[in-house]
Amino acid sequence: MQIILATSNKGKVREIRTLFEGEEVLPFADLLGPMEIEENGDTFAQNALIKARAIFDTLKRDDVIVVSDDSGITVPALGNEPGIYSARYAGEGASDRENLQKLVQKLKEKGLSSAPAYYTAAIAVVAPGAAYVMHGWMHGKVIDTPRGEGGFGYDPIFIPEGFDQTLGELAPEVKKRLSHRSKALRLAKPIIEMLGRTLVIGH
Ligand code: IMP
Repeated sequence: MQIILATSNKGKVREIRTLFEGEEVLPFADLLGPMEIEENGDTFAQNALIKARAIFDTLKRDDVIVVSDDSGITVPALGNEPGIYSARYAGEGASDRENLQKLVQKLKEKGLSSAPAYYTAAIAVVAPGAAYVMHGWMHGKVIDTPRGEGGFGYDPIFIPEGFDQTLGELAPEVKKRLSHRSKALRLAKPIIEMLGRTLVIGH
C-alpha cells in the first residue's frame, strides 16, 4: 500500500511517517513535483479535503491512498487568531519564524505574557470512492518568549497542559504522544488500513 501525503511540510512528513512505520509513505512532490493548491475552505476539515482531493485527482491512480493534514493554532484571547490562517499569519509565504513572531507581537500588544491556546489537526483520507476527515486537538498555552529548538512552527511558544516546558524543549516522544496530529492520525489509522485491504482485494 502506498500512502501519499498531500503536504511537503518536513515537520509533518516526519511526524506522520513515525506513525506508519512499515508502510511506504511519500510526500506528493516526490511523484508530482511542486504543485500549488489553493486552500480556500473556511475550516480545517474543508482545507484538508481540498488538499487530499486535489492530489488524488491529479495522480489519477486507483491504487493509492492520499492523506492530508490541515492544522493550526487558535488563541481565543486574540479573537481565535490565527486558526486556519496559521501558515500565512504574517503574510503569504511567511516563514514559521515570522508567523511565530507575529503571534508573540499580538500577545504583547494585548499586554499578555501567556494565553490559553490549542492546536487543531484535521486529517483527510481520500481513496477510490471514499473520503473521510478526522480531528485531533492539543490544549495548552502560548507564551511571549520562544524556548527550545525542537518541533516546528509555533512549538517554541506552546506549552501543553500539564507541562512547564514548551514543545520546542520537550522530547519528540512527548509531542508524539500528545499532539493534535497524532490523535487524529490514530483515528485515521484503522480507516487507512481498511481502505488498504480494499485496494489489495480490488486488484
Ligand atoms: P498547513 O500546512 O496549511 O496545515 O498549516 C499549518 C500551520 O500551523 C503551520 O504554520 C504550522 O506552523 C502550524 N502548525 C500546525 N501544526 C503544528 C505543530 O504541531 N506545531 C507547530 N506548528 C504547527
